[in-house]
Amino acid sequence: MTSALIDSYGRVATDLRVSLTDRCNLRCTYCMPEEGLQWLARPDLLDDDEIVRLVRIAVTELGVRDVRFTGGEPLLRPGLVGIVERCAALDPRPRISLTTNGIGLGRTADALRAAGLDRVNVSLDTLRPDVFHRLTRRNRHHDVVEGLAAASAAGLAPVKVNTVLMRGLNDDEAPDLLAWALEHGYELRFIEQMPLDAQHGWQRADMVTAEEILAALSARYSLTPEEDGARGSAPAERWLVDGGPARVGVIASVTRPFCRACDRTRLTADGQVRNCLFAREESDLRGALRSGAPDARIAELWRAAMWGKKAGSGLDDPAFLQPQRPMSAIGG
Ligand code: SAM
Ligand code: SF4
Repeated sequence: MTSALIDSYGRVATDLRVSLTDRCNLRCTYCMPEEGLQWLARPDLLDDDEIVRLVRIAVTELGVRDVRFTGGEPLLRPGLVGIVERCAALDPRPRISLTTNGIGLGRTADALRAAGLDRVNVSLDTLRPDVFHRLTRRNRHHDVVEGLAAASAAGLAPVKVNTVLMRGLNDDEAPDLLAWALEHGYELRFIEQMPLDAQHGWQRADMVTAEEILAALSARYSLTPEEDGARGSAPAERWLVDGGPARVGVIASVTRPFCRACDRTRLTADGQVRNCLFAREESDLRGALRSGAPDARIAELWRAAMWGKKAGSGLDDPAFLQPQRPMSAIGG
């Protein structure tokens, strides 16, 4: 019998994010330092069988319905297509999605779609290759744009674009990015910059807020809030653009947190459950997996990890402490 991942505030986690690697081929300034980040040791990473087993336990024993693969950069994981295929064969079949920087999607979108991937979110912060280079420290703008086109052509729908605005770099691009996304049929979502960078350089005062983003978009477009209740547990608040049907979203994790409706559980690439992006504690499942624990024991450990989820991220507390692990290791 399925017994859900409930926390002590009554929230039920049905959406699992799995980080497949902490490595990446970009170095986005809000995520990673230029160099010097300590990678997870290979033997500590879950192998493909271990990942599929944990996803199976989540889906068959714990009521998880959505599985998103992320990282680091999940397209760098050699076994990705096989992992997706095996997860899509589970009963009940979860909805499967991917968050990626898009580099290499041009080559793999068709195979991922055929394996059972349902949806993709591609991160792109700018339309200008020179700004892309300053933001990511790599010259790969073209590859991302190509990856997005391939995702659409492969029939992955909807194709969402995740954008973080950084003051003085790309904060003047919000309406242009929206015009471009509308033209290509992508659903654009802005994400407020969160204190999850490895360098611990986040400053509240530097962050481009949801309010600023909406003001910039409203100068060119008419935005109508999506009808009440449409948001559900989704972190993005959405607006119809010029009456719809196209939409734009804003994920205001800092200024309008959505913790009360959170339905997420997270698994790091080295097999730790995190009950919140901002949690400072993790619960080890890899040790149990590798010591031969049965599914029921792993499910029990996972439930216990979620029960302890805090009411909120604590971002509004002046005593807020950034998690030890950066976003790239937790899985964004
Ligand atoms: N490499 C993939 C990518 O970039 O999409 C997946 C992992 S990345 C950590 C997941 C998402 O987190 C991306 O959309 C990225 O823009 C976002 N992200 C990373 N660091 C962030 C931060 N400090 N604040 C807000 N969003 C962040
Ligand atoms: Fe890599 Fe994604 Fe982090 Fe950028 S946001 S450095 S693409 S993991």
